[in-house]
Amino acid sequence: MTINRRAVLTGIAAAPAAALAAGAGRASLAAEGAGGTAPVVHAFTLGEARITVLLDGHLPLGTQLFNGYDDARAKEVLAQGLHRLQDDALQIPVNGYLVERGGQKLLIDTGTAQLMGPGLGALGAGLAAAGVAPEAIDTVLLTHIHPDHAGGLIAADGSAVFANAELVAAQREWDFWHDDAILAGVPDSSRGFFDMARRSVAPYADRMRLLQGESEAAPGFTALELPGHTPGHTGFMLDAGGEGLLFWGDLIHSTALQFALPEWTIAFDTDPAQTAETRRRMLDRAAADNLLVTGAHLDFPALGRVLRQGDAYAYQAAPWQFGL
Ligand SMILES: [Zn+2]
Repeated sequence: MTINRRAVLTGIAAAPAAALAAGAGRASLAAEGAGGTAPVVHAFTLGEARITVLLDGHLPLGTQLFNGYDDARAKEVLAQGLHRLQDDALQIPVNGYLVERGGQKLLIDTGTAQLMGPGLGALGAGLAAAGVAPEAIDTVLLTHIHPDHAGGLIAADGSAVFANAELVAAQREWDFWHDDAILAGVPDSSRGFFDMARRSVAPYADRMRLLQGESEAAPGFTALELPGHTPGHTGFMLDAGGEGLLFWGDLIHSTALQFALPEWTIAFDTDPAQTAETRRRMLDRAAADNLLVTGAHLDFPALGRVLRQGDAYAYQAAPWQFGL
């Protein structure tokens, strides 16, 4: 399924119901990924933490999704790197993370499970390949409640996949998706996002912890407000004993285009102007402070630094075996 504007507005809205009808269960998810995709993981150590990047799969991101898309400008930027367009789409990864630190076993985001079609849904298989059962996860941090981040919270029957985990998200994010007045004002085609968001967090309602602004999300993790993509979109800064890593969620959707063209927001951004402003602020900080960064849609294995390049930025990928 190529994600184009129509699919965003209509296809995904219908996806949760379709997934329920298909009846895929937790067992099949753990065995091979919801879409039959093989597990792909990249593990490295950072200070006292062991971090495993769990690739859920790739989404074809149609170029028409970019606000103000300029084909000539895009091709010029793409020609400088090795990214290629395929059927007017860029392949963007969906990454989640396992962080093991002391006795802590924490996930950041949970992939799509069966919500977004074939070629995705491998995060659970990656976790199994890392030797960790869903029941062993003690904390799940959500950057935001979109289907490619929260979809893996629930099995096809709607039950919680992480039976013993506390679920942590921003209060502002929770409030947005649970606000009936906001829901009443959105187009019918966007209601599926609200339905999916509510359904994915519902079985965790009695073990949710909601974050108020910049605060401790879990031991070693500080939540950073990165609003725009969604109202409560949140980054997490890990302090792994003197070594830091910023998990920035969806600050960048396209590694290929948005470091060079940071004003190019996409159709999923709730507030495009705020998205671009937040992106600039965080990229400036990451470049100035030489931060090690990772993101849900950065090219796998999604670990590197941000370089300032004139008025824009560039991504410097870390060596594959970083920290080993
Ligand atoms: Zn995303």
